[in-house]
Amino acid sequence: MQQSNDARVIMIMLDGFGVPPEGWDGSVYAELCSTRFISLFRDYSIPIDAILGVPGIPQSATGQTALFCGINAPAAMGRHVHAFPGERLSEIIREKNIFKAVMERGKRPVFANAYVRHNLHELAASRFRSVTTVMTAATLGKAFTADDLRRGEAVFHDITNRTLPPEADIPIIQPETAAANLLRLAAAHDLTLFEYFLSDRVGHKCDQAMLQEVLSELDRFLCALTDNIETDTILVLSADHGNCEAPDSPLHSQNPVPLLIYPYSGKPAVNSIDQVYDFILSLLCGNFCPARECHE
Ligand SMILES: [Zn+2]
Repeated sequence: MQQSNDARVIMIMLDGFGVPPEGWDGSVYAELCSTRFISLFRDYSIPIDAILGVPGIPQSATGQTALFCGINAPAAMGRHVHAFPGERLSEIIREKNIFKAVMERGKRPVFANAYVRHNLHELAASRFRSVTTVMTAATLGKAFTADDLRRGEAVFHDITNRTLPPEADIPIIQPETAAANLLRLAAAHDLTLFEYFLSDRVGHKCDQAMLQEVLSELDRFLCALTDNIETDTILVLSADHGNCEAPDSPLHSQNPVPLLIYPYSGKPAVNSIDQVYDFILSLLCGNFCPARECHE
């Protein structure tokens, strides 16, 4: 049974979204986003480390494993592993992912992203499986589809459905509608995870117009989410590594990434991306101190 002091959590993973070294107010984000978006990050986020003591440029497969499994995945692999996890990393993900940890505590997790072009299990068996695909297939065993998306009961990775082909026959929606859809899912689950990776795609392209379009959608989505979030729900947003905050470089950055917690007035004891997992579990189990043991 859910205890009254347990929070629901919406976890958002932004791919390639770092903290600008010049500060939020002087950054490309301030140039392209609303003042509300900037103040959210300025007032409710702290910078956390994504390098985890392993030389090189942080990458998605190990960065996302660190976020979703609570381990130093680059150290476990001996390097930062880019894009998709191979078999060794996938084993770790199947064993330690946050969906599994949440279910072991008697809570209900959900992956909000809809799979439209590919079937979950076919994708999970291919080499183009993302960290979230591995954990969703292994632990939840099912994912939302085009039908769920049409009914507004899931969210597409691009927020608005605009990158879907016309033959998918799924209407484009406003970012505010996508936020409302995500909030409805969050009200029916304990942990609701949404993954967004256009921030990394546009970061690699160094295209200012595409960056503006993506940041504008993300801006409206996050503002609508935080404006309408239920009182029993906390948004926890982080990233696997930096990229789009440095629009002149097509590579991932070594900048810290934000840990945004809304609403939250304390100072979370989180210094790096592998510590976000324990922090989320502590919120879900009615205990805001990550040091305390989390019991069912
Ligand atoms: Zn990338």
